[in-house]
Amino acid sequence: MPITEHKMVAGATPHAEGDRIMQICNACRYCEGFCAVFPAMARRLTFTDADISYLANLCHNCGACYYACQYAPPHEFMVNVPRTFAEVRKETYKNYAWPRAFGAAYQRNGLTTAVVTTLALSAFLVGVVQSVNPAVLWGTHTGPGAFYQVIAHNTMVAIFGAAALYVILAFVMGFRQFWADMNEKMGDFVSPASFREAVWNVLTLKYLDGGGEGCTYPDEKPSFTRRTFHHLTFYGFMLCFAATSSGTVYHYLRDFPAPYDFTTLPKILGSLGGIGLLIGPAGLLWLKHRADPMLSDQKSRGMDDGLLGLLFLTSLTGFLIVFLRETSWMGITLTIHLGVVLGLFLMLPYGKFAHAVYRFAALVRYALERRRPNTNASFE
Ligand code: SF4
Ligand code: SF4
Repeated sequence: MPITEHKMVAGATPHAEGDRIMQICNACRYCEGFCAVFPAMARRLTFTDADISYLANLCHNCGACYYACQYAPPHEFMVNVPRTFAEVRKETYKNYAWPRAFGAAYQRNGLTTAVVTTLALSAFLVGVVQSVNPAVLWGTHTGPGAFYQVIAHNTMVAIFGAAALYVILAFVMGFRQFWADMNEKMGDFVSPASFREAVWNVLTLKYLDGGGEGCTYPDEKPSFTRRTFHHLTFYGFMLCFAATSSGTVYHYLRDFPAPYDFTTLPKILGSLGGIGLLIGPAGLLWLKHRADPMLSDQKSRGMDDGLLGLLFLTSLTGFLIVFLRETSWMGITLTIHLGVVLGLFLMLPYGKFAHAVYRFAALVRYALERRRPNTNASFE
């Protein structure tokens, strides 16, 4: 019978369970070649909560160490690194959230995502209905500046500029606390060699390969499918960001307002990114729902699904605008798209996207540690 229930020692917090498991792994060390977690673990003999948070954020939840482990359930040691670290990561996102009170959003993230998105959509719809003539909302607008006949460009810039600043501030505050708790100096974060190594590891998803054969996710069979879908999502997001940035340059420096045709840089970047954001999140959702429930924190499903769903919807509504932009449906489609994007923005610091910040910080620290003498070398 397959094992589906993850049991921790009664009453243990995720960090305490992480500590217990790391003590066992540190004596075993069979998984040292799988990822960055085990070499980082081997530099320590004891584990503070900050150490466990650090190790958990190095883990990519590939599953390799769970399937390789002779002490995994039903063994009485009940070693389950990916599941325990998934629970610790959720605690990290909650504990380092800014403002702190908003950390509770992680606990009921699926619901929060839906509520925030709906509120954002509603605010946009109400704002549009109140500020423009309904005939404008449902009218047909074509040519440069067509979008801004529905919602003024300055209004869009003000709303999304404020949201972007808020998101950046929330992440900076969370990162600062995380970094300080690991007893690292802020200046070391930008140490060129370590920073470069961490960027490379993020861009290539170096540690989502189960030690080389591929990720044992969604099941025991190694595969690079998850890495491929993650790449499509990540690069799709970055291309869409580049499309928005190039659109801003077109608007302000070339006096060329949206919408753009298919031969322009913003449209090419946006189309490629949009395709990535359709396939990547859909693929990750598909894998997630097929995955062995022992690998992940089932209580985080809402958080994971919320981000992937919003990314997918952002792209889908973006493409709908492209197809409907010469019709009377463009206004309402644009309004919904902007509402979804605003919902996505506002949820970034309080959902799964937070892993991008803390995992990157953990990878920088790992690169820093690799350049320092190992005081536990005698135990290796
Ligand atoms: S996960 Fe299991 S096999 Fe791997 S190091 Fe830990 S105890 Fe050993
Ligand atoms: S699940 Fe994968 S990434 Fe996480 S600790 Fe195990 S081997 Fe490393």
